[in-house]
Amino acid sequence: MNINDDFIHALLIEDNPGDVRLINEMVKENKGRTIILEHQSTLSEGLQALLKDKYDVLLLDLNLPDNKGFGTFIKVYSQNPEIPIVVLTGTKDVELAIKSLHNGAQDYLTKGEIDSALLLRAISYAIERAGLLRVVQSELDERKTIERELRKVNRALRMVSECNQIIVHTSEETDLTKKISKTISTLGGYQSVHIDLLDQQNGISSQSFILENGQSLKSILSLLNGVFDLIKKKTLETGEDIICNDIQIDDRFQSLRDKINKLGYRSFMVLPLKSDGLLLGILQIYSKEAKQFDSEELKLILELREDIVYAIVSIRAQKEHLRTEETLRKSEEKWRSLVNTIPDYIFLMDTEGRLLFVNHDIAGITEKQAIGRSVNEFLSKEAQTIFRKKSKEALDTREIQFAEHSSNETQNDIKNFEDYLVPIIGQNGMINFLVISREITERKKAEEKLLIAKEKAEESDHLKTAFLHNISHEIRTPMNAIIGFSTFLNDPDLLPEKREDYTEIITQSCSQLLAVITDIISIATIEAGQEKIYEREINLNLTFKLIYEQFASKAQNMGIAFRYQNQLSDIEAYICTDEIKLTQIINNLLVNAFKFIEKGHIDFGYNLKDNNLEFYVKDSGIGIAREMHEKIFERFRQVEITETRQFGGSGLGLPISKAYVELLGGKIWLDSELDKGSTFYFTIPYKKTNNPAFLKEKQPVKAIKIDIEEPKTLLIAEDGDYNFILLKELLSDLNFNIIRAINGIQAVEICKSNPGISLVLMDIKMPIMNGIEATKLIKKNRPDLPIIAQTAYALEHEITRFKDQGFIDYVIKPIKKDELFTVISEVFHEV
Ligand code: ADP
Repeated sequence: MNINDDFIHALLIEDNPGDVRLINEMVKENKGRTIILEHQSTLSEGLQALLKDKYDVLLLDLNLPDNKGFGTFIKVYSQNPEIPIVVLTGTKDVELAIKSLHNGAQDYLTKGEIDSALLLRAISYAIERAGLLRVVQSELDERKTIERELRKVNRALRMVSECNQIIVHTSEETDLTKKISKTISTLGGYQSVHIDLLDQQNGISSQSFILENGQSLKSILSLLNGVFDLIKKKTLETGEDIICNDIQIDDRFQSLRDKINKLGYRSFMVLPLKSDGLLLGILQIYSKEAKQFDSEELKLILELREDIVYAIVSIRAQKEHLRTEETLRKSEEKWRSLVNTIPDYIFLMDTEGRLLFVNHDIAGITEKQAIGRSVNEFLSKEAQTIFRKKSKEALDTREIQFAEHSSNETQNDIKNFEDYLVPIIGQNGMINFLVISREITERKKAEEKLLIAKEKAEESDHLKTAFLHNISHEIRTPMNAIIGFSTFLNDPDLLPEKREDYTEIITQSCSQLLAVITDIISIATIEAGQEKIYEREINLNLTFKLIYEQFASKAQNMGIAFRYQNQLSDIEAYICTDEIKLTQIINNLLVNAFKFIEKGHIDFGYNLKDNNLEFYVKDSGIGIAREMHEKIFERFRQVEITETRQFGGSGLGLPISKAYVELLGGKIWLDSELDKGSTFYFTIPYKKTNNPAFLKEKQPVKAIKIDIEEPKTLLIAEDGDYNFILLKELLSDLNFNIIRAINGIQAVEICKSNPGISLVLMDIKMPIMNGIEATKLIKKNRPDLPIIAQTAYALEHEITRFKDQGFIDYVIKPIKKDELFTVISEVFHEV
């Protein structure tokens, strides 16, 4: 209503008819705008009328029949705050009128003082003031709205900014959604915020709620999940956002209306969180106010939604990245620990030889330090060349290459490696080499040893073959002579001189044969470790003299100057040693000296040096090449091994000599040059004896004639018939009455039953009872009966014990007449 309108529509609530009439009169008198005045007499009728019609102004008497005083004003005003009210009051009630003015009335008129002009002015002013007030009020309202909007936008901005802070600083999904829900709810002023995250099968993987205080989780959950299901379905189908500004009037969500109403919500928003068309989750926001989401706010929330999506995607990518990294790390760790436990060197290098990976420290340099360095730094010059060559071949052929190299360490600590060079072609066509290097030093050594052993075995095989040829030759040659010339002896027409010659040839051949057999037995005994030393006191000078005499005639026949030299006096020359072995060694050396000489001289002798006796045998023969100086001491070894060789021999003399020298505690060596002759040296410890009187000088072997005046009974214990016949024949010139026993027992019995027996020749090896046992038994009855052992040379260690076993002396088979006679004559001399 406007005061410039033609009519003023006024309502008078007044119970006094006089006052009503008076006011009507005054209104009529009005010359200005027409006032149409309606009248009601009670408050209730007045209020009814106000509800029904619209009035520009209300004239209100405070004392009405149904309500009196200030209460009347309040009731009217509270129902119609818009309408300008002019209070009519009596003079006594002015205070009430003023109170009404303070509470919203526009003016008051005191009854009895009103005139028409006053009334009209009061009405006009009231209407005008009310109009102005309305304008002011609406401006105020508008301002308030703007302020509220501003506050809201501010809050929304803060919400977005805080959410962004959270996004930046949070690295875990559930943590993120919880914090964001809380911030949206607090700063956005929403009662409930809910973020569901989905897993790959679109099931809920995590849920974060923010609920208003006092809300039951159960009820809100049932709502949220209901909405969620609906929205998920819808979102999966259409992917659209859902924004409902008032559930009361929005029919799209009728099915949810009851639930939402029950919780007191009016508006809500459901936004899918999507990335690249993939639904990651759903954001739900509920508010109690209708029309909560204006366009600005909506814009911000939609932007925020994008930020949340971005954050989730980043977190997931980061997580995936970490997981991949972890998987990679674990796989690398596994691979590394595997590769590191392999003792071989495994390394990766580029075509320039730069190391890209190594599995071990190399030459004291750690794996880390080695990376980037050239492989050549760790290789010998030879190995560098091999690697270069093999790398090139691998590049050309693209095939695995195999090589062997040795380390560049000091010569005596050299290490060998075998290498596999594997070309590895990368995706970009780049080639690297994987090298697997295995140390094979021990294997190499073993191979070398095996090779040497094989060569040795072959050589020894070869030597054995040569030996068998030689030995066959060495045995057959004398045998040939023995058999051949023996048949001539049967010829009755054979001239006596010839017979003598032939007999000499046969004897010589027998000695030769015996020497060969002796050597074979000796080497076998040595190799079986059975050879032992039997030391006794000897006079070295005497031994030398005997040896010299043995070779003197041979030297004379050959026209060779032959000398010997003793350094020690005869008294100093009493030493303790194994005479048989010492003689054998010197003999062997002299036999060789005579064998390998044509003309010139042969000297032998000894010197005392540092408590050792140093013996020498020197010849001016063919000499021995330097490279053979050690080899000739190996068994069967001879310098000359051709079929057409000119010198005989079995190749056993030097090895036997060497073994004997070593058994005696010395060493043997030689000094020789081809064509200039040889000197063989050997040492033995000088064990001087202080009891020369103990020694019995052995007489040189010479023909002895034994004179036995009275016939003596001699028992020969011998199982071999030929040996018995030989002995009988050898002793036929002597005045012996010979009895035979064919074993030990017989010998014992014969001696028992025949006290006339004055000498026994006892064979050691016999059936039933051996000679040693028999001798013991015989000696029990006849302690003074001289018994001479006859034995084979091979049992040398027994020979030295014969004296302890009751024998007076011994002869060695094959028995030579001279030796037998010497022993028998000595026995009879002693007896
Ligand atoms: P054998 O003389 O029976 O062949 P040895 O073992 O005594 O066997 O000698 C081995 C080899 O050593 C001889 O075959 C010979 O080649 C060489 N030899 C030994 N002594 C001499 C020497 N004094 N002069 C030259 N060569 C010798």
